[in-house]
Amino acid sequence: MSEMQQATCSCGFSVTSENEDELVMIIQNHAHDTHGKEMTVADVKAMAKQV
Ligand SMILES: [Zn+2]
Repeated sequence: MSEMQQATCSCGFSVTSENEDELVMIIQNHAHDTHGKEMTVADVKAMAKQV
C-alpha cells in the first residue's frame, strides 16, 4: 500500500512524493521561483492529497 502524497499547483506543476517534508519543500520552491510567492507548510498540506 502506497503512502504517496501529491500536490498540484494552479499552473499544473505537480509533485508526487512519499516524503511529505520533501513535497512541501518542492512546492514551496516552485511557488517562490515560478510565481514569486511564499507558501506556508499549511498551504501546501492543504493542497496535498493522498494518491
Ligand atoms: Zn505553479
